[in-house]
Amino acid sequence: MILNKTLAAWCADYPLIADLIALKETSWFNPAIAPAREALADVGLTAADVADASARLQRFAPYLARVFPATAASGGIIESDIQAIPQMRAALAERYGVAIDGALWLKKDSHLPISGSIKARGGIYEVLQHAETLALAAGWLRLDDDYSKLDSDAARAFFGAHQIAVGSTGNLGLSIGIMSAQLGFQASVHMSADARQWKKDKLRAHGVRVVEYASDYSVAVAEGRKQALADPSCHFVDDESSTSLFLGYAVAAERLQRQLAAQAIAVDAEHPLFVYLPCGVGGGPGGVAFGLKLIFGDAVHCIFAEPTHSPCMLLGVYTGRHDEVSVQDFGIDNVTAADGLAVGRASGFVGKAMQRLLDGYYTISDEEMYSLLALLERSEGVRLEPSALAGMPGCARVLAEAQGYRERMGLTAARLERATHLVWATGGSMVPEAEMAAYLARGAALLGN
Ligand SMILES: *Cc1c(COP(=O)(O)O)cnc(C)c1O
Repeated sequence: MILNKTLAAWCADYPLIADLIALKETSWFNPAIAPAREALADVGLTAADVADASARLQRFAPYLARVFPATAASGGIIESDIQAIPQMRAALAERYGVAIDGALWLKKDSHLPISGSIKARGGIYEVLQHAETLALAAGWLRLDDDYSKLDSDAARAFFGAHQIAVGSTGNLGLSIGIMSAQLGFQASVHMSADARQWKKDKLRAHGVRVVEYASDYSVAVAEGRKQALADPSCHFVDDESSTSLFLGYAVAAERLQRQLAAQAIAVDAEHPLFVYLPCGVGGGPGGVAFGLKLIFGDAVHCIFAEPTHSPCMLLGVYTGRHDEVSVQDFGIDNVTAADGLAVGRASGFVGKAMQRLLDGYYTISDEEMYSLLALLERSEGVRLEPSALAGMPGCARVLAEAQGYRERMGLTAARLERATHLVWATGGSMVPEAEMAAYLARGAALLGN
């Protein structure tokens, strides 16, 4: 029984559940999508909140430029490039047997400085916000100060009396740990069993306490939360419900808007923008999608991608039971090579906040992520980690779907010809060379040539 209902009854009410259990690649286009001006009110956060986060990141920019030289060129702003990937577009069209008329772009959060993944947005932002709150309250920082004064022994000693803790499959821990340690905080990262050794090693090299668990992400988060709550000097970064993380991610949208404008890429009803976002617990893609809907409204179409072994957001939104259900409840194992996506229970906050704003959800097998990883390296010379490929089949899923989604949304052939498809590449630049070689070899073997 799952929530007092038999599995057979669940499958009768929600036919796609059988496909999810069978680990079949599945797409589901959201029939409850509503106009952005209406549905944005569900979120409980506003454009002013995102502007506040953006201004905070601006205040910290002089500090970041100073302590992380990789951000100096951008003046301490942590941002990634967009890149057109026309050869990959051709490769995808051939692989999936669909004509892809619009342009295909990659958003390279894989190459974000400091931690090499999308977590360099939300994770770092929440640490900075917490640091600012403490320093302002203690009276030795003012909003109009030059924040590079935080790079001092006095500041590090101050933050050293405070702790920051987080539960993570790896990348969030990396971002929170590195940023916290740099400011002087005592940082603890509670890592699930699937976290890579190199991420644990890197954190320990930064002086971060790494606590390892033999179980999955939910347990690491629950344990971390429990230990943190017992200590009032400890701030727990709650990946399952943090609005701070969410807003840190949302700032990506205004940056993307400028990047698209610089490429003369129009986004409006006649020129739709499709954004494909790999989803774990949901905060990263949810925050980015929220920011995008605030700016582009109904002209942007956000679609979440999950591993076939961890379809927690699809399951939660599709059944309307959100964080009341986990993939394990349905016998799905939550075992995937996609770092950051091995999450069995989605964020209830994000699922509910965004349920009328997202166009759809789909799953992708680990084998397909590896194949696309090799295909992208061959066609464009870009190297990503497996999870970052989850968004890659998205355009083909949209263009080949037969659920009536395109008609319902007014996505005519003429509009689709003028569309821009953007794949959010969420990680990969810090993967050690030997591991990347193994990923590429695995993908090449699957491609069979
Ligand atoms: C964390 C992560 C995601 C998804 O972010 P969530 O906030 O967990 O949904 C996607 N890709 C990578 C590489 C990640 O590390």
